[in-house]
Amino acid sequence: MRLEVRVMKGYKGKILRVDLTDGKTSVESLSDEIVEKFVGGKGLGYYIIYREVPPGTDPLSPGNKLLFVPGALTGLIPGSSKVIAVSKSPETMLISDSSGGDAFGPKLRGHFDALIIEGRAEEPVYLHIYDGQAEIRPAKDLWGKGNYEVAKELWGKYPNASIASIGPAGERLVKIANIVYDTERASGRGGLGAVMGSKNLKAVVVEPGEKPEVANPEEFKKLWDEFYEKFSKDPKYEHSRNYGTTDGLRSSASLGMSPAYNFSRPYIPEELASKLAGDEVKKYEVEPEWYIHGKSCPIKCARYIEVEYKGRKIRVKPEYESLAMLGAATGVFNLRAVAYFNWLANNLGLDSIASGNVIGWLFEMVERGLISEDEIGFSVKGFGDEEAEERLLNLIAERKGIGAILAEGVKRACEILGRGCEFAVHVKGLEAPAWDPRGRRTYALSYATADVGASHLRGWPRPHQLPNQGPAKELVPSLIESRDESYITDMLGVCKFVPYSMEDLARFYSLSTGKEWTVEKLRKVAWAVESIARIHNVLDWVTPPLDDVIPQRWWEPEQDGPAKGNAAFIDYNDFLEARREFYRLRGWDEELGVPLPETLEKLGYPEFKEDAERAIEIVRARLS
Ligand code: SF4
Repeated sequence: MRLEVRVMKGYKGKILRVDLTDGKTSVESLSDEIVEKFVGGKGLGYYIIYREVPPGTDPLSPGNKLLFVPGALTGLIPGSSKVIAVSKSPETMLISDSSGGDAFGPKLRGHFDALIIEGRAEEPVYLHIYDGQAEIRPAKDLWGKGNYEVAKELWGKYPNASIASIGPAGERLVKIANIVYDTERASGRGGLGAVMGSKNLKAVVVEPGEKPEVANPEEFKKLWDEFYEKFSKDPKYEHSRNYGTTDGLRSSASLGMSPAYNFSRPYIPEELASKLAGDEVKKYEVEPEWYIHGKSCPIKCARYIEVEYKGRKIRVKPEYESLAMLGAATGVFNLRAVAYFNWLANNLGLDSIASGNVIGWLFEMVERGLISEDEIGFSVKGFGDEEAEERLLNLIAERKGIGAILAEGVKRACEILGRGCEFAVHVKGLEAPAWDPRGRRTYALSYATADVGASHLRGWPRPHQLPNQGPAKELVPSLIESRDESYITDMLGVCKFVPYSMEDLARFYSLSTGKEWTVEKLRKVAWAVESIARIHNVLDWVTPPLDDVIPQRWWEPEQDGPAKGNAAFIDYNDFLEARREFYRLRGWDEELGVPLPETLEKLGYPEFKEDAERAIEIVRARLS
């Protein structure tokens, strides 16, 4: 069914809803009021999930919804490729969002401001979006196939389209399964690939459409050219343009922030870190014509490399998190092996961060003699065992043998085995990414309080230089500032590696919508969205004083390097004071960590006050 709807400048004004249970699609209008309150991307996604997926919903049931929401500037400004997948996570049981790049977001933006998928198809299907409409098509012949093969087949039929797909891991409801865009980018975190699998949805294929019209096209174009020129030529950004994030391990290791050996040796020497970073990666880079997307990005950080590993030649676009988690965290410092694991994780549809984390954890179990060969099913040497890592990635995706346990994520895996939870590195069930916070005190507070669990994309406190020995509380205002900024980029769909200031983004957004948007106004929306995420999560299962915590590993002082002797906080009291300060500055109850009704009122979101009151009562009752 197609409806004529009013179009706000900078938006398509339309949301596509697909009910896979009854096979119906419908188009709904997006009101100005909702745009003013939630902007787009993550903000709009959280609002829809809040309204439509009640706390307590089983994430793998037809009642859960999977959203793809491009940001409000996605596809409109240089480096704005992001689409935000939002759903209730089967791994953490929290509302979860995970952004992904490549061309899917900008192409979806050519038709709709959001895509809502609900229900469950009886047989495997894929969704084809074109000309502002959608068709559900059978996907039996794609089911069981890896993401590279699926993309190849679909591109054979739809050569100009962009694809979001799941691999065998998502089909088998692996809780660390991701959603892959155009083979190389992903909404990786929180197991959203399993939500897609639970709906029997193999792929979403989006044809190019018409970008939304902006309110002030001349000024907008001028600004576009100015920033493209600046970011693509300014020598300040040369390193990013040259290496992207692939040189990250040298920095993280030198700061004592790498995840090496399951976060047991965050400082590793330069010679070792260099094996998975910078020029070692560049050695395998293939010519720029291998870019398939990202033409509108002035940084173009993601480069294809081509490697041969055990007679298999693969091409992949690595970035820091995948290299560090599938390599350093598991103790494998062979770039060709790690690039292959990256390709394999993409193909199977596994989150490379969570996979590296859970395999690194298993290797530590082996090293400590806490798990036998019989339990694993084959011989594993421990850290650095390339063969075992490859085998485990396949077993996780197949949910076979030990893989069925690891497929549950590191928190559940240690609980199932009843061992090793003291070095399972996660927050609220989400595996920690490749930045150990002990090299940057207070950063752990970001992990502890982040909406989705241990995400590295929920704000970094500043300053961060070592030695950073002052009380953590002092750095909380900078965490809040940075937290807001992370929400703003995710609401606008702008890549966090493109160095816009918040003022730049507010200016672009104002020119796009024709309405005056200040940084202050965007920060308010960010604050409100974080608050409603918190209310929903509390109404579900989170008890902040008990759950806003960090893994035991980060209380162990670092053994070496510039952060030697540092734990994540000076002591437990330092952590508690910082956490209380965070709650206070957020306008949340200082002891309970729940947004106060008056905060919602002050921010202009009084409709959430009642739920905030209820959440406060629930936490009180749980603690009594
Ligand atoms: S900076 Fe890198 S990740 Fe960000 S949009 Fe550009 S190419 Fe993509």
